[in-house]
Amino acid sequence: MQEGRPEDETWEGERGVDRIFELVPIVALLVAGVGGGIAAAIRKSPAASASTTGAPTAAPTKTGLVAETVALTILGGLFARILIGVLLDAAGDAKGARLAIGWAFFLVPGIVDAIASIFSDSRPLTDGSVLLWFATVVGAFTGLMAGLHRIYDWSRLGAPQFLGDTTWGLGGSTTAALVAFLNIFIGTCSSDERKGAHRYDKGFRLKEDFAFTQGNVMSSLTDDETQPLYKHERLHVFQNRAFGPGFILSYLGWMALWIIPSLATSLARRDPRFIEGWCYRSNPWEVWAYFIQRRAAEQAEGRDFRSGGEWGPFVLREASAVIYAVPFFLLFVLLFLVAGVTLW
Ligand SMILES: [Zn+2]
Repeated sequence: MQEGRPEDETWEGERGVDRIFELVPIVALLVAGVGGGIAAAIRKSPAASASTTGAPTAAPTKTGLVAETVALTILGGLFARILIGVLLDAAGDAKGARLAIGWAFFLVPGIVDAIASIFSDSRPLTDGSVLLWFATVVGAFTGLMAGLHRIYDWSRLGAPQFLGDTTWGLGGSTTAALVAFLNIFIGTCSSDERKGAHRYDKGFRLKEDFAFTQGNVMSSLTDDETQPLYKHERLHVFQNRAFGPGFILSYLGWMALWIIPSLATSLARRDPRFIEGWCYRSNPWEVWAYFIQRRAAEQAEGRDFRSGGEWGPFVLREASAVIYAVPFFLLFVLLFLVAGVTLW
């Protein structure tokens, strides 16, 4: 929409949709695809390492693995470019919309430029072409890893999962890419295949004994899909795909909202557990995940874990968390609507 578009000196006068298929990034994507194919060709067959549970998936033919990796690398980058290009074009490359895209789909450029704009007028990372490069790199890397580790089950929900990871869920895929990259050096990949997520037995984590899930990457998770903790982490993968920016931004928003009250309470009551309890464990997205985990544990052990164990006094009860969540999410939806209407 051209009418009413705010004047902006960085507007290049070039339609966003044309930029999607610019020569240099498209060539870069093809090169990345070839690189992915080579990586797939020299990769040790995952079927060689024994699966711990379940029926082993059919060993991939080398050609199949190479073809899948090449295709997902190129398509991943392309899907992400199309989404971001269309969004940029629809907003006429307006400054506010670019910042919103930076937050909603890649997080890092949003945070960096929000801080940068306090000190100066420049927003280096939420420039239109920079955002399109973010899309190219994150989309292609997400596709590359998914192809190499054959995470999608194409006979089931593989296609929408892949589309979600490379478009709507790009925010989680960005941080997932950072975790997966780090795990190349410090992680051990599981032999899971076709489960819709990428699991590392060993890998990056924030706390000992904790798994860490970003996008479709579940790090530091030794449990297989029959275990309660796996179900918890796997739900976060779904949350990112299904709710996209709504998930990642409201997750962080909840933490931001509770950090001061929980810090004050922790100091007053001389117990640091209120911070983790309110910011993290009472976060509605975590309440949902812990609910799934608790139910699975109860079914497995035939015990009632509703008391919340040692964390009981430091978390909102499930029922009150739901009550808190309603106005919180209504506010978030309102915020999204206002941003959408004013920026686009
Ligand atoms: Zn969790």
